[in-house]
Amino acid sequence: MGADKKRKKKAGGTPRSKKRKYTLLVVAIAVALAVAISIVAGVVTAQKPETVSYNAFCQMVKDHQVEKITFPTGGAKFTFQKKDDDKVYETDNPKIDGFKESMLKQDIEFTETSTSMWVQILLSLLPYVPLLLIVFIVLRMMPGSGKYSVESADRPDTTFDDVAGLEEIKADMKTIAETLKDPSLCQELGAHITKGVLLEGEPGNGKTLFARALAGETGVNFYSANASEFIEMYAGLGASRVRKLFKEAREHAPSVVFIDELDAIGSKRDGSTDGAGREYTQCLNALLSAIDGFTATDGVLVIGATNRSEDLDPALVRPGRFDKQFILPPPDCGAREQILRLHAKGKKFADDVDFAELARDTVGFSGAGLASLLNEAAMLALTRKTSVITRQQIDEASIQMALKGHIKNSIGDRNRHEQEIVSYHEAGHAVATLALTDHLVRRVTVLPTTAGTGGVTMSVPPSDKQLPTVGDLECQVKMLYAGRAAEYLLAGERETGVSLGAGQDIKEATSVIQHLVTLTEKDGLLDYSDFGLAGQNKLMDQCEAVSRRLWEETVAFAKENWPAIDRVAKALMEKDSLSAQEVTALYRGE
Ligand code: ADP
Ligand code: ZN
Repeated sequence: MGADKKRKKKAGGTPRSKKRKYTLLVVAIAVALAVAISIVAGVVTAQKPETVSYNAFCQMVKDHQVEKITFPTGGAKFTFQKKDDDKVYETDNPKIDGFKESMLKQDIEFTETSTSMWVQILLSLLPYVPLLLIVFIVLRMMPGSGKYSVESADRPDTTFDDVAGLEEIKADMKTIAETLKDPSLCQELGAHITKGVLLEGEPGNGKTLFARALAGETGVNFYSANASEFIEMYAGLGASRVRKLFKEAREHAPSVVFIDELDAIGSKRDGSTDGAGREYTQCLNALLSAIDGFTATDGVLVIGATNRSEDLDPALVRPGRFDKQFILPPPDCGAREQILRLHAKGKKFADDVDFAELARDTVGFSGAGLASLLNEAAMLALTRKTSVITRQQIDEASIQMALKGHIKNSIGDRNRHEQEIVSYHEAGHAVATLALTDHLVRRVTVLPTTAGTGGVTMSVPPSDKQLPTVGDLECQVKMLYAGRAAEYLLAGERETGVSLGAGQDIKEATSVIQHLVTLTEKDGLLDYSDFGLAGQNKLMDQCEAVSRRLWEETVAFAKENWPAIDRVAKALMEKDSLSAQEVTALYRGE
């Protein structure tokens, strides 16, 4: 039931190649099973010959009972049928000369089949083929033995126009791209050519996009690999993949080699010599020597992507390797607007959608987060069969992303009293947010969510970068406590009348308070967690004191602002959900 902050969403998901592999496996197993079943079924339904002794056969011939013989040349047995039944019999091949003639003389039909022994053996192995196929495919899919698509080049049609914002980095990257295509440019000026670029940033901020755009912009071959795939491989295979990748890239220069999640092989060596550690060192060494192995004029550019460059092995960032580093920051307001506009292309929006406003409301979203926000909104429009995407649908989509679930359509079987408690709780959060913080309240709802909360107050911080002060943190705690405080007052200041719905709020408040205690001077500015058990006890004492004080202040605040809380809560009981404007108007008493 907490006031919800935006959460960053990890972009990407499973790489397409992995998805394809799993589809392949499923299809292969299905086909194999089908074949196996049909063969087994065939064997079961086909008549199994009844074995009789050769003597018995001779007796039947004598009695003129045998009608026809099917005789596989060279076979160990042959089959025959009698005149009076449909059964098939089988007996040993006597392998005597003139056998056929003697049978023919007895008026027995004699068909020689040319099935050689080998064919028979192969036929008898047929039922095992699907099994072998499955084993083969599973083996191929085991990490390390599989065929990774690192060798196949790609010619992306992404350009720098597809990358919003990041203008300064774009300009630098353009220069690098120029020299990649025409190294003489650099040599004329005596500048040294960049061999490797490191892109650093949180997931979804466009590292892959940037690398692809660079290749697309210059029209060079693009090779991409994920460093964690190298590590997954069996002994030595990862290293050989690295070599192969660079060999290919050189042969097809000019080209860009993009290595995602570089930290998987490039983080500081931990000196472990177990299997994994060795593998890891081998890969890193292979990568280092591959980078050293081409010269700047070979027309190969390595682009590495990582979340945190401090973790990288210093050998990697030495001059001549990944010597240019760019940080791709989370998009600021202007960049968010550009990214939104870029991803809005091809989608239809209602007139009330203002991208500048939306950019302000999406503090903390990554580029990938913004892209999926518009996509989810488009999905909502599709589900509701509206011809355009509305602002409300975008809001709903962002709530869904933040909550990792949906807001339910109804309050379910909550009774009136429970509905009242939830309404006052959320009203408490909303009023405290508006009165104590500079956050914007985007939406307040008492509808439960599929993620299990009873109601939500969505708020966003007003700007991107915020260095919270002690006062800000205190207000944040009060905002979290305000839901419970409102319930407490509603119950006539009886602790027993308060619901258990504030668990999450208290959890969040606790971590803010711990942070707060180390920032405020009581018995010195100390981080008590460094002092073992004694420190823990001290920390807890101080946290308790701060918590008690802030709770009392929050109750006092709620009393003072009771009319506003009451207005918002009553409206919530009637309407379930309030928009930003509605809440603000009610708070101000307009
Ligand atoms: P990373 O590699 O840093 O995890 P990606 O490059 O895979 O991030 O970004 C994922 C998606 O997010 C991109 O395909 C694109 O749709 C969107 N995106 C991220 N940053 C930007 C940006 N600056 N401009 C446009 N789209 C972006
Ligand atoms: Zn709450």
